[in-house]
Amino acid sequence: MDQIDVPFLDLVRPHVEMQEQLAAVFHHALHTAGFIGGKPVQDFEGAFAKFCDVGHCVGVGSGTDALRFALMAAGVRPGESVITVPNTFIATTEAITQAGGIPEFVDIDERTYNIDPEKLREYLELKCERDAASGRPVSRRTGRKITAIVPVHLYGQMADMDPILKLAESYNLLVIEDACQAHGAQYFSRQEQGWRKAGSVGKAAAFSFYPGKNLGACGEAGAVTTNNPEVAEICRKLRDHGQAAKYYHDIEGYNGRLDAIQAGILHAKLNYLSDWNEQRRQIAQCYSEQLRDIHSLIVPFEPPWSRAVYHLYVVQFPDRQEMQNILKALGIGTGIHYPVPLHQQSAYAALGYRGGDFPVTEQVATRILSLPMYPQLSASEQDTVVGAVRESLATAGSLSSV
Ligand SMILES: *Cc1c(COP(=O)(O)O)cnc(C)c1O
Repeated sequence: MDQIDVPFLDLVRPHVEMQEQLAAVFHHALHTAGFIGGKPVQDFEGAFAKFCDVGHCVGVGSGTDALRFALMAAGVRPGESVITVPNTFIATTEAITQAGGIPEFVDIDERTYNIDPEKLREYLELKCERDAASGRPVSRRTGRKITAIVPVHLYGQMADMDPILKLAESYNLLVIEDACQAHGAQYFSRQEQGWRKAGSVGKAAAFSFYPGKNLGACGEAGAVTTNNPEVAEICRKLRDHGQAAKYYHDIEGYNGRLDAIQAGILHAKLNYLSDWNEQRRQIAQCYSEQLRDIHSLIVPFEPPWSRAVYHLYVVQFPDRQEMQNILKALGIGTGIHYPVPLHQQSAYAALGYRGGDFPVTEQVATRILSLPMYPQLSASEQDTVVGAVRESLATAGSLSSV
């Protein structure tokens, strides 16, 4: 059999397919010199707000900007702690720190890889005291007041939001969603008996439009979504040097704007996002059907309350490193999201965590492997990947466990 290489991600095909539409955006910008802000940005914000079922969308420079602005605008103040998970991209905790907060970790659920609501409850009940004045928890570990929770909708699947929102309500905590991997993901709220879109559940949410995300720019971009007009207003100021009118600065802000070319490109691509997400779901289903019988391999778990958009298709396998090497030799690209949990990164040594503090995160970090996943992945490419996974198991002598 001829070997076909299958890259982990193909960002050429979708853009070449849309070349004319994307070039028209650039052409328009050249002929109007509308590079920053203006109508293309407003139009995209309106369309993305509608896509997410929210009242407001504020386009910003990146997902990291979006999360930092959302946290600041929602009311996180310097010196306060913010709960999140150690199994996420470092941008989640960078945004917390850069908003003045201090990350505080809670372990993940072993099946969904998202924050475990039971462990969140245990943490709040057993590891915190209550601040009498605010009703907010105070961490016994650090003595700091906790203000917010950042659930990360990792790999394109939403966190189990009902119990998180309930705990947040009883502890007076803000909920800011990190939806950077979850454009279009949905969650069935048993509480409200209805489906909710990622980005519409918390007080505010952050999206990234980094090129490889489900909706990606041809450069850097991000957005805050919220139903809260004040939060949106503060984010608009924060992204533009704190000004409400040119050279009148209500607060000190940042240079965190979305440029018009990226907004135009995102708007053109947004029209395809629902179809692309559906293709990702089909590819995921096809992978899972073909890999499920391998006992040493764990396929992604999608609870009945979730409609995931498979930003990544992540399997668990005991000898991940060997599998990755063999797949590489067979021309199949893979990724690891993420190899080192945040509490074990040098950057966070000062937080004072140790190995063993988050056993689920630590264990899955040694076993997870992301297979090629993008809407344009063809059936034959997918067969090649599945065949290579089986072949690698045979090579690794693990097929006996099939
Ligand atoms: C991509 C990503 C971010 C950051 O987005 P940027 O646009 O790269 O700044 C934040 N959180 C998660 C979970 C991400 O995957």
